[in-house]
Amino acid sequence: MRYQKPKGTMDILPGESSKWQYVENVAKDVFDRYRFSEIRTPIFESYEVFERSSGDTSDIVSKEMYDFKDKGDRHLALRPEGTAGVVRSYVENKLYGPEHVKPYKVWYKGPMFRYERPQSGRQRQFHQIGVEAFGSDSPELDVEIITMGLAFLNELGIKNLKVAINTLGDPESRANYHQALVDYFTPFKDQLSDDSKVRLEKNPLRILDSKDKNDKEIVKDAPSILDYLNDASAQRFEYLKSLLDDLDINYEVDPTMVRGLDYYNHTIFEFMVTDPAFNNKEITVLAGGRYNGLVEELGGPETPGIGFGLGVERLLLLIDNELDLTTDLDVYLVTIGEKAEKASIKILAGLRAAGFSADKDYLSRKTKAQFKSANNLNAKYTVTIGDNELENDTANVKNMATGEEHPVSLENLAEELKGIEEK
Ligand code: ATP
Ligand code: MG
Repeated sequence: MRYQKPKGTMDILPGESSKWQYVENVAKDVFDRYRFSEIRTPIFESYEVFERSSGDTSDIVSKEMYDFKDKGDRHLALRPEGTAGVVRSYVENKLYGPEHVKPYKVWYKGPMFRYERPQSGRQRQFHQIGVEAFGSDSPELDVEIITMGLAFLNELGIKNLKVAINTLGDPESRANYHQALVDYFTPFKDQLSDDSKVRLEKNPLRILDSKDKNDKEIVKDAPSILDYLNDASAQRFEYLKSLLDDLDINYEVDPTMVRGLDYYNHTIFEFMVTDPAFNNKEITVLAGGRYNGLVEELGGPETPGIGFGLGVERLLLLIDNELDLTTDLDVYLVTIGEKAEKASIKILAGLRAAGFSADKDYLSRKTKAQFKSANNLNAKYTVTIGDNELENDTANVKNMATGEEHPVSLENLAEELKGIEEK
């Protein structure tokens, strides 16, 4: 019997995992500077948490959930996205309380699960990095979030990003727009895809997001949200744009950009890139928006929120493959003889405690083979210890790049190596 990983999952092997660590480290670094703290929530939640937050007509909930009953007959689901769990946690832990500084800013990373047909760039277990900020309705916070997303991607070396923004307005503007969409699509009802027929009843905004070719044709002439904004929403959007201008952020307003979920309002945004890794097709790298109704939907007090999320697998395809992420090995111990081999265990522990990365041969191989391993591992130094040297408290350090050799005292090996390093 040969076992295989479940369909739609990936092993992230050493070599590849250093790229993941790099991305996660940059995320932590950038988000730290913006004072976002990491939050870690369970990878499974009550099914209703996702049903409530994504809506039961969303693709995620209606088709893609990994849901199951546990032995106690609880209906649970592996998380398909990060926001719902974070909001559940925000409410459950009363993070809206007066002892917490507002806005309450968090970020997360981790695996997400969707039962989808696996294909290139589409897995059943994939990963997202995302951020959420609660408790401020200010467009200035919207801009902070957009700026932080850009800083993150720029720091990863992803350039030529297109920033697309739109607004969904406040509930009143949305309601007006909702009616305009119903009025527009109803005469086309028979021509719409089956999914969009349902959407017309339940959530006409989602028709704008349809991937069906025929739907797309009909959507082309649909009314624009920008014509249905009330004054307050329009002014808010103007202010947001002026802040982006102040920061010299180039953006395009895309009035067709929507979010299907009811709790989204005001600012939504996506960062797009055109890259050979995706056959020079424009793809969305990062997407976010304001969701002022979600905390309430999950049982908390009325609390504005805004966030973004991105798929890490997709992001990694955009990252320079030439990046050198290998970590050097400082010291490789070469031992000659049984006593030296035994003593090397303690010496190795001492080196590591002193902050060196260090390794040795565990296969009792000949000296030449040990030097070969040192080479393969890119060791900066080898320290050769023989039984005689051990008795005299000496060892031989070799700089593998220059070939230069020094005798050193074993007693003070770490100190001696630091001395050599400094030269
Ligand atoms: P799509 O329209 O491609 O199905 P989506 O609307 O389901 O995307 P979101 O729910 O917005 O995507 O998820 C955000 C990001 O997560 C996507 O842009 C993508 O990078 C990533 N993502 C979503 N589903 C998958 C998956 N099955 N495998 C890998 N990455 C995914
Ligand atoms: Mg999807």
